[in-house]
Amino acid sequence: LLYCLLFTLLISSISYSQKSDLNVEKKIDKVVKSMTLEQKIGQACLKGTSSRSKGLSEELKKEVRMGLVGAILNLTDPDLVLQIQKIAIEESPTHIPLLFGRDVIHGYKTIFPIPLGLAASWDMELVEKTSKIAANESYSRCINWTYAPMVDIARDARWGRIAESPGEDPLLASRLGTAYIKGFQGNDPSVPGQILACAKHFAAYGAAEGGRDYNTVSMAESLLRNVYLKPFEAAAKSGAATFMTSFNDLNGIPASGNRFLLQKILREEWKYDGFVVSDWNSVTEMIPHGYAADEKDAALKSASAGLDMEMTSLSYANHLKTLIAEKKISEKQLDEMVRNILRIKFRAGVFDNPYFKDREKFSLLNADALQTARTAASKSCVLLKNENQILPLKPNQKIAVIGPLADAPREQLGTWVFDGNKGDSQTPLKALQNSFGENNVFYASGLSHSRSLSEEGFALAVEAGKKSDVILFFAGEEAILSGEAHSRANINLPGLQEKLIAELQKTGKPIVLIIMAGRPITLGAVLPKANALIMAWHPGTMAGPAISDIVLGEVNPSGKLPVTWPKEVGQIPIYYNHPNTGRPADPKTFVVIQDIPVEAWQSSLGNNSHYLDAGYEPQFPFGFGLSYTTFSYDNLKIEKAVLKNNNSGKLNVSAVITNTGNLTGTETVQLYVRDITGSIVRPVRELKDFIQIELKPQESKTINFSIPVSDFAFYNDKMELKTEPGDFKIWIASNAENGLEGDFKIE
Ligand code: BGC
Repeated sequence: LLYCLLFTLLISSISYSQKSDLNVEKKIDKVVKSMTLEQKIGQACLKGTSSRSKGLSEELKKEVRMGLVGAILNLTDPDLVLQIQKIAIEESPTHIPLLFGRDVIHGYKTIFPIPLGLAASWDMELVEKTSKIAANESYSRCINWTYAPMVDIARDARWGRIAESPGEDPLLASRLGTAYIKGFQGNDPSVPGQILACAKHFAAYGAAEGGRDYNTVSMAESLLRNVYLKPFEAAAKSGAATFMTSFNDLNGIPASGNRFLLQKILREEWKYDGFVVSDWNSVTEMIPHGYAADEKDAALKSASAGLDMEMTSLSYANHLKTLIAEKKISEKQLDEMVRNILRIKFRAGVFDNPYFKDREKFSLLNADALQTARTAASKSCVLLKNENQILPLKPNQKIAVIGPLADAPREQLGTWVFDGNKGDSQTPLKALQNSFGENNVFYASGLSHSRSLSEEGFALAVEAGKKSDVILFFAGEEAILSGEAHSRANINLPGLQEKLIAELQKTGKPIVLIIMAGRPITLGAVLPKANALIMAWHPGTMAGPAISDIVLGEVNPSGKLPVTWPKEVGQIPIYYNHPNTGRPADPKTFVVIQDIPVEAWQSSLGNNSHYLDAGYEPQFPFGFGLSYTTFSYDNLKIEKAVLKNNNSGKLNVSAVITNTGNLTGTETVQLYVRDITGSIVRPVRELKDFIQIELKPQESKTINFSIPVSDFAFYNDKMELKTEPGDFKIWIASNAENGLEGDFKIE
């Protein structure tokens, strides 16, 4: 009886969802049938507005009135949004509501850490909460579509947009993308307060050659599929309403005209039924790319490839009609594009709720938002060094607060902040004055900004240092040094920061270095001068209180690096999950010695894959991060050493993690695997799962992982996704270079 009941329930739920989909498709049929060719093309046009514009231009109103616009970008005044929406609904012949898009990347008014910082938290619930708050705040200001999450894998810290990325690992990136999408869209994007997400930039944008933005990408299809596409596939499966193409070419074909990506992968393989928007002018950028001869050719190439909506450039508006008349594009093709767009408009509920009902219920910068921003900022901090347990500090210590990022309310917000105000930022200086007492804080910025080449402020900074028990140096990059089109060839501390740190070291006072930056920073001679090092990324609105929480031990740091941290820029690209070489370097024999004779150097090093002057090891590995407590890993148990290569095959493995210190702490336990021999060369390690746990002092927990053998599948050189039988290594680890090691086999 129970089975019968369950079966009936299952059937009725299936038919319900099919019915609702059918309903939407029927509604779409009806709308599409009633539209003229011009109106259909209009749906495929996303119009830009200047965020500074005071009113609506007459031209935009006219176009909307004629039904020639599908969506609008960067209209930030709610009154104007409502006004133009009213025109679309009441005055246009189609009555189709508009979508209102905005780059809400890491918060709207409440700014959370940059995405690379949020990635360092490895806390998916937290990430989901930040994007839910961002959605609520945006909705309250009449935005129903964000251009986030960016799920581009980034292995090159020179690339300015690494700040916006989920880091270098496909599994972590997939989970982050899913968490963002859930937060933005909820289970149902039509619920007031939720907004539509956009997975971007499809695809391989993060692999721009040399880390130079917009640069070309050449990549084997197996690498594309095994690494770069993984988070996009997860985003499609998580219901991301929209996808955005990227600016780069992939193996010669610009993404916005790339049929392989947009048709074969996205539609045929992943069965994606949302819509695809281009990036800003990326359709007409195919002309300077040398891939489209002119605007008309660009429209032809993008529409034929499967790009549904064009952002800002006007090739669709100007040429689709002619292309259809010339039978170069069929009206059926255009109908498909419009259907994809309308499907999302129906799903988003904009037909029923075009005027953002209940938006007054969602407030900006409310207590919960600020508390979440504070938690997110402290959980993003990665403790990279803590000599002699100098941290946490005691509240009665005298501190010197120095450095260009100590009191820089705009800079701590980082890149891609359009709506956040620096006036809402709480800086480290203010927060530390609160927690240590103003009399115990000696402040001197030393440098007016991160790139400053003036030593004028050095003397005051040294004086402040001398008065203190410990120096807190807030180093890093201004917001403008990362982000779109902001790549760097050197990723060290800019300006005279290193020199000032050297001066401060002469005071003999211990130095706690806190870095706020959009990327890992090569440290060189700075690292030995710092007694402790915290990577805070650009932490957002609540940077100050969050860092004060960390410094005083109110929060025990738990962040782990979502990217490998290079020693030298010349090591880039450097990432943990690289394919093996035939000459792996051996850390036991490897030492970089600059001043010994070349012959000795050669004989001591062997002929392995490394740089003579920088070795092959990073400064800090992927997944690395310290705590104020310590954890031990023991007792690795693999349930079965031989697994079946079918649906029942599962790797069940456990280990005992113990907090061996005196403070409660959170540890992210990571599971890595290496497929020893494959039909194509396999990565030395791949992250397959991770679990975050909190442990009290001396507490132990057994952590169980259960991983289906299908998770060990990869695309081979024939592009078949298969788990290959053979020997595997496994590590349960606290970062990508250590761990309890075991073996298993797949039959
Ligand atoms: C960026 C996108 C962004 C778009 C709209 C482009 O330059 O690459 O990520 O969503 O602008 O602002």
